[in-house]
Amino acid sequence: MFKVAAIQCKTYKKSEVSQALNDLLAHIGGLGAYVKPGQKVLIKPNLLAPRPPETAVTTHPALIAAIAEAIKQQGALPFIGDSPGGFGVLERIEQLWEITGMKQAAAASGATLVNFEKSRFKELELSLGKKRIKIPIAACVVEDFDVVINVPKFKTHDLTVTTGAIKNMFGVMPGLTKIQFHKFAPKKEDLSTLLVALFTHVVPQLNIMDGIIGMEGEGPGSSGTPISTGFLLAADNALAMDMVQASIMGIPLDRVPIIVSGIKAGLGPKAMAEIKQLGPSLEELQPKKFSWPPGSYTDKIPMFLIPLLSYIARLVRLTNPVVNDKLCTRCQICVKSCPVKAIDNNQGKIRVNYKVCIECFCCIELCPARAMTIKKSRLLRLAEKKG
Ligand code: SF4
Ligand code: SF4
Repeated sequence: MFKVAAIQCKTYKKSEVSQALNDLLAHIGGLGAYVKPGQKVLIKPNLLAPRPPETAVTTHPALIAAIAEAIKQQGALPFIGDSPGGFGVLERIEQLWEITGMKQAAAASGATLVNFEKSRFKELELSLGKKRIKIPIAACVVEDFDVVINVPKFKTHDLTVTTGAIKNMFGVMPGLTKIQFHKFAPKKEDLSTLLVALFTHVVPQLNIMDGIIGMEGEGPGSSGTPISTGFLLAADNALAMDMVQASIMGIPLDRVPIIVSGIKAGLGPKAMAEIKQLGPSLEELQPKKFSWPPGSYTDKIPMFLIPLLSYIARLVRLTNPVVNDKLCTRCQICVKSCPVKAIDNNQGKIRVNYKVCIECFCCIELCPARAMTIKKSRLLRLAEKKG
């Protein structure tokens, strides 16, 4: 059996988070089962973009500080590192640490911040069917640390439906190479296969999910909506954690491509029946109402239509990113971050070329102004009505 522990924790108050973390880890043998004195431990949060903690785009600094303090209590050395997405952030990593609260979390706990962009790079070769792709990762993640603690956020994702423990390790890829990954595998099923293949090279020893304030709707960036979910999860198996996350969201596992790929690759449990849940039950953790990401095949679409829609999506567009001119600040982050150069600044108006766009939704993920959103095709809306 794979174990996933849960604990209720309603706020980011320091004393509450530290106590909850301690009680949570006690379910799976305590932190001492994973971290030994003298070890160097990398804490890997989700630092997608420079957004403040209350937006729920990134892992909350109070949890990161509590984990770092717990590591120090074990006599080990805590480090905090991630590579954000998008143009213009990598050069200003100090600013990202400041805005996300990581700088303060490191100062308060005595942890050291690690800039993945300055690490040596190690090349990996991943397979997608007959195709081979060479990608760099920050070598420090696999060479400089004895233990990696993965700390994802409980969030939805427009393309991959959820973003969780497996996907959080995507951040080991430096800089804009993450965005280029989308170009190689534009369809969510292919992208998920590659994310799982990448994960097998950087498997963390422990995963702790920040579900105190999660994200619903159009995640994982600023377009998503924070939701008070009030819990933490811990597991040594990332797939088991992602399966529990999807179940709490009320999303069937076979609608989350990264879970489907993870099961196929033998990363962990094949079904929820193989997971022993410790602490509060799924029902106790489930929010009363939870919005799925609009880019996914939402709960309004009956299961029997999903294979047909997946097939149609390979032939015609079912979703388009659209710009709200009133909200757009012309910052051009989307223009510079689009992996296929499908976005132009046309006489002061940001426009998407749908003949080129591969529906990766990076522009929505990275837009700081919530100005990019998804427009569904008539066919997709019709399928939803049929549900
Ligand atoms: S759509 Fe968003 S990311 Fe693109 S230019 Fe406008 S504000 Fe910036
Ligand atoms: S326009 Fe947006 S969704 Fe389309 S390829 Fe570019 S970043 Fe991806």
